[in-house]
Amino acid sequence: MTLFDSPAYDAHESVQAFHDEKTGLKTIIAVHSTARGPGAGGCRMWPYASADAALEDVLRLSRAMSYKNAMADLELGGAKSVIIGDSRTAKTPALFEAFGRAVESCGGRYWAAEDVGTSPADMVNARKSTRFIAGLNGHPAASGDPSPVTAEGVFHGVGLAVKRAYGGSLDGVRVAIQGVGNVGGFLAHKLHAAGAKLVVTDVNSHAVQEIVAATGAKAVSPDAIFDEEVEVFAPCALGGAINLDTLGRLKAKVIAGGANNQLASVEAGRVLFERGLLYAPDYVINGGGITNVAAEIRALERGETFDGAWVAKKLERLMQTLDEVFEQAAAERRPTQDVADQIARARIAAARG
Ligand code: NAD
Repeated sequence: MTLFDSPAYDAHESVQAFHDEKTGLKTIIAVHSTARGPGAGGCRMWPYASADAALEDVLRLSRAMSYKNAMADLELGGAKSVIIGDSRTAKTPALFEAFGRAVESCGGRYWAAEDVGTSPADMVNARKSTRFIAGLNGHPAASGDPSPVTAEGVFHGVGLAVKRAYGGSLDGVRVAIQGVGNVGGFLAHKLHAAGAKLVVTDVNSHAVQEIVAATGAKAVSPDAIFDEEVEVFAPCALGGAINLDTLGRLKAKVIAGGANNQLASVEAGRVLFERGLLYAPDYVINGGGITNVAAEIRALERGETFDGAWVAKKLERLMQTLDEVFEQAAAERRPTQDVADQIARARIAAARG
């Protein structure tokens, strides 16, 4: 497969591959669009089976960042990087310093942060070679862990969706949360405080026990979560939770959670719509985390300190945007994900001029 023939290629501005022989670093940085500002997106470290698989992933993920950043109305474009390697065995400080040199060579068109397989400690090493790294701790502009902000947005998004689908508040509403890690865990606490009745699952039994003890949630096995009698299904684990099999089992009318890439296929999105389910597009409802990171980039660029009030305001606006997506989709009888894609594309095109 060549780059321009890839189904995931979408007029990306640049795609660069870097190899550092000394550290073994193999990374691809894809900048989808800088129309709204420098491209921002995480660095994923994954043992891809082939360079083609890594290329396809970085193309898809960087475009998704353009859409996510546009929906959150951030002055950022979309970009992403992937490092080919096993994060459990192949990490060294020198490898991330070399990654930092790759980021530096993009000349500020790409800001990196953590993603699957990379940590704040890795980004500290990358930052030795470039200033274009965000998502750090311990400096005045630092944004810290984005998960509570992501969960805050998801919590409000669940509330908006429940109001539309069932016409009431979260009090007494039954919510199934798949994955109670960082985002799912914070979300569980917030929903519990709002009076929701929780069913939770996780492949990590310690995480489940903690949430059950704190919220009185019912715990079920990872496979049983799809069969629960609930009003809301909240995917907060990995991607692809909504597929043709699970759609046939879900009782909820609302799908709203923090995970990225919740729809396993375009077909799953179509079926979901035909069955009358209300889906909160993942990259809209979970935009709180990148908004938090954007505040760090903004503070670093301006030489200011982190501004939590700016984040809160942006998050409020993002939730209005989510509600507008629901409204337009209902009025035009279209899938919410199609409406969100259209708005994101229009915002990027408007910035391009
Ligand atoms: P996390 O690793 O802390 O939590 C994910 C949890 O899901 C883990 O506890 C894991 O054990 C569990 N899990 C994995 N597979 C499972 C399965 N099959 N069934 C049940 N549980 C399973 O990650 P996180 O930071 O909470 O992120 C969760 C999701 O939200 C991811 O899809 C991530 O990409 C997305 N997201 C996170 C943020 C953020 O701010 N952290 C922002 C935007 C999107």
